[in-house]
Amino acid sequence: MKVPFLDLKSQYVSIKEEIADALQQVLDNTAFAGGKFVEEFENEFAAFCNCDHAIGVGNGTDALWVALLAKDIKHGDEVITVPNTFIATAEAISICGATPVFIDVKEDTYNMDPDKIEAAITPKTKAIIPVHLYGQMADMDPIMEIAKAHNLFVIEDASQAHAAQYKGKKAGSIGDLGCFSFYPGKNLGAYGEAGAVVTNDANLAARMKMFRDHGQIKKYYHSIVGWNARMDGFQGAVLSVKLKHLEAWTEARRKNARLYDKLLGNTADIVIPKEADYARHVYHVYSIRTKNSDQMLQQLHDKDIYCAMHYPVPLHLQDAYKDLGKGKGSFPVAEICAEQQLSLPMYPELTEEMITHTASEIKKLL
Ligand SMILES: *Cc1c(COP(=O)(O)O)cnc(C)c1O
Repeated sequence: MKVPFLDLKSQYVSIKEEIADALQQVLDNTAFAGGKFVEEFENEFAAFCNCDHAIGVGNGTDALWVALLAKDIKHGDEVITVPNTFIATAEAISICGATPVFIDVKEDTYNMDPDKIEAAITPKTKAIIPVHLYGQMADMDPIMEIAKAHNLFVIEDASQAHAAQYKGKKAGSIGDLGCFSFYPGKNLGAYGEAGAVVTNDANLAARMKMFRDHGQIKKYYHSIVGWNARMDGFQGAVLSVKLKHLEAWTEARRKNARLYDKLLGNTADIVIPKEADYARHVYHVYSIRTKNSDQMLQQLHDKDIYCAMHYPVPLHLQDAYKDLGKGKGSFPVAEICAEQQLSLPMYPELTEEMITHTASEIKKLL
């Protein structure tokens, strides 16, 4: 049995007519760059996140960058984040001219360890970016408390956590700003590139709207130097269609995770992901830990079961960040995770047979 890592096609087939209708409306309205379909999606997504504002942008990397710019992050500033994330989290900090300062993560949730924050704060620290890795939120209460005590602001990187919750609060709604990616493979994925920032702060929302559109207050009147980071109309229309299904898709992911848990829990040499007491995990990625993950990835591949690694090299050990001078051993938990993680196939359309087959092949390999 073939078990693909991702299957965007089967989901598309299930909503084909709705998508065709939505795309036709964009064509009929020639609303291609920004425009009414982006605005409609922004309103729906803000409401979904229990936030007052959502600003649609070109992708998740833009979302992080525009959020940092809105808070005036610049050369000489430091922003605390984690090394076990997709590089965009750190890139956005660097592109603003600021320096990412990594801290280690917790071994049970793979998320930012709040106990490590205070030691990393310097007079240059301006912000903290927790990443809600794999679809589970970081422990936000202590993070917000420390931020408040040190007058720092918090940007949630919620690119993997659409519909996730922390003590009943939606991802993106706890920090000053919440950033989302709608890259096609994300839990809420566009049919192209897109992203958004959510916030309850009307001033920040207005600033981000200017930045993403060349600093314009109205057409050809530029009050600040900005950029083109707009969302395109087709993506807004597609995302509005898909947002209506997100709850059902999230429940399907959670159900799939429970089945993996049942089949792989209590297996020697396998650590299954832990859902924290505070969390609603949305399983963007279902990542297990095992000692020979490289070998297992290859052996499963040979059996037509496709897995992945998120992420094989933590950011402090990437060539791009070697100037930070953080060698091997700097963040032991993140490093162990990088060595042992193995992401199993996970999407709403995954069948019970596929999960059972994958789990039994894994057990045979141990
Ligand atoms: C996907 C992702 C991003 C970047 O989003 P793009 O839309 O690909 O630019 C940023 N942070 C995290 C944690 C991500 O998973």
